[in-house]
Amino acid sequence: MRIVLLGPPGVGKGTQGKMLKERLKVPHISTGDILREAIKKKTPLGDSASKYLERGQLVPNRIVTEIIKDRLKKRDCLNGFILDGYPRNISQAKSLDDFLKEIKSSLDRVIYLDTEEDTLIERLSGRRICVKCQAVFHLKNLPPKKDLICDFCGDRLIQRKDDKVETIKRRFGIYLKETKSLIDYYSKQKKSVKVLAWGDREIVFKRILNKINKIK
Ligand code: AMP
Repeated sequence: MRIVLLGPPGVGKGTQGKMLKERLKVPHISTGDILREAIKKKTPLGDSASKYLERGQLVPNRIVTEIIKDRLKKRDCLNGFILDGYPRNISQAKSLDDFLKEIKSSLDRVIYLDTEEDTLIERLSGRRICVKCQAVFHLKNLPPKKDLICDFCGDRLIQRKDDKVETIKRRFGIYLKETKSLIDYYSKQKKSVKVLAWGDREIVFKRILNKINKIK
């Protein structure tokens, strides 16, 4: 199953992507995670991407498209994948379509997770992630057992630089301007399905599975 998760920042694409990975046994590929890992490791990719992430701006299409193509060529993607955070604009969506065509493949579904801007600001500004294992917590909705300490590996929890309110608003603006048009793009291909993203993660997950089961 080849799936794209679409939706505004903070809607829960990462959480649902990880849950889907366990259920469908296909890799969950997040361009945001790949870029953050590269920044942490101070690779050339990380060095060129860091200024964009800090400002909440999009990394140039050429860079992210190369990352995705390289990743999708790996053997573990043969049975499918879950893309999270890519594509983010029409140009990326076209590059993805072209690449999949080249390898005689195509997307099965685009799951559009929908919610309100206020909910997103609340979710993102309270989000804290582990510096080591990247586990995600929320100060109010999913607090760690010990203050700012990861339940899983015991390392520190920090706030992503792009989860500050001003940057969240900028990211949301970019989403409205660039990414939302993808819903139309994939509707025309009859691939996009809308899933309401409010409620707890298990409920949202069930809604997604319902949509996916219909195409199995
Ligand atoms: P995310 O974790 O998906 O919210 O992504 C965090 C940041 O990584 C974004 O604000 C962008 O700076 C960058 N990024 C991730 N995916 C893409 C993409 N497909 N195109 C351009 N920039 C991206």
